Amino acid sequence: MKYIVLVGDGMGDYPIEKLGNKTPLEKAKKPYMDYLASKGIVGLAETVPPEMVPESDTANLALMGYDPRVYSKGRSPLEAVSMGIEMQPEDTAFRCNIVTLSDKCEAYDNKIILDHSAGEINDKDAHKIIATIDKELGNDTRKFYAGVSYRHCLIWKDCPAVCSFTRPHDILGKRIGNFLPEADEYRRLMVKSFDILKNHPTNLRRVSEGKSPANSIWLWSNGKKPALPPFSDKFNIKAAAISAVDLIKGIAICAGMESIDVEGATGTLNTNYHGKAKAAIDALGRNDLVYIHVEAPDECGHRGEAENKVLSIEYIDGMLGFLMDEMKKSGQDYKILLCCDHPTPIELRTHSHEPIPFVIYQSNNETETGLYYSEEQAKRTGLYIKDGSTLINLLIK
Ligand SMILES: [Zn+2]
Repeated sequence: MKYIVLVGDGMGDYPIEKLGNKTPLEKAKKPYMDYLASKGIVGLAETVPPEMVPESDTANLALMGYDPRVYSKGRSPLEAVSMGIEMQPEDTAFRCNIVTLSDKCEAYDNKIILDHSAGEINDKDAHKIIATIDKELGNDTRKFYAGVSYRHCLIWKDCPAVCSFTRPHDILGKRIGNFLPEADEYRRLMVKSFDILKNHPTNLRRVSEGKSPANSIWLWSNGKKPALPPFSDKFNIKAAAISAVDLIKGIAICAGMESIDVEGATGTLNTNYHGKAKAAIDALGRNDLVYIHVEAPDECGHRGEAENKVLSIEYIDGMLGFLMDEMKKSGQDYKILLCCDHPTPIELRTHSHEPIPFVIYQSNNETETGLYYSEEQAKRTGLYIKDGSTLINLLIK
């Protein structure tokens, strides 16, 4: 038996007036998803415990069979692992943004945060900035790693006691004094970074070109590497994961899965759907299970783009069609779990807490259900998985 988990990130939604009071899942033409629902098991699952924030790491941990209440350690260690950093148990990872603060000779506390992304700084400039920061602020226990654009990483061995940190994108345009970390060691690093960066050649050039300078670091999202029991031990099968998103790659690597990078997989509406589906079939040659995560519907949800969200679901349905055809050609029996990780309703433009609709289909055990794939149909069956981290047991056992 081969297993496919196909996750449309943020696919679930509410009825939308613009779509004739249908949800994007109801509006989309998706013959393959509907086929699975018409022949499989359909229900709802809670992927995010009520007391937790519906983040993608939390929900995808649950879908892979790891209770987020036990295993969720925040996003930064997952990002660090996906960057290839080998974290040790004594290491703590921090997200280190490079940001743009106002520069009017005011005290650091009085500065305004203008941009959490330093004008979506390019990698080349960003890497020069982080190299300087690591040289000046790094030491035997503290190392800054350059990532992508404004998203970088600090790994701190036996770090000082952590405190609460603020997400920089939540306080744009505000005076930073009230949002700096309370613990002195972290605050001091941020203050020093401004002195180091304000006249950095890269920033002077950026300003002369009319671009935002990356004139401070911003530390947030601390966490230890999650100690996930290997997926292969838990379920006695080999698994691979395909995603364009650092967080999901990080979970897969921590779970000992093969993490596959697909060229042109971008996490946007224009991602390489076909490339991902082909890579999934290829991965099933070496593995028993492949976990395919597609970010596009979530991205459309955050942007409030209803029609594009419908389109992204139709593209994912195309992937599903390819996967089913290829599996049929191979002559192997297979099961599919089709789901989303959490809803990202167009109306809210952020993640929500509602349970997710899922389908489990088994190629050699079809039953007529008369259902199609939607939030409402899934609710109607009455099948409700309270602990979403047990959903995968229905697939594998
Ligand atoms: Zn999202």
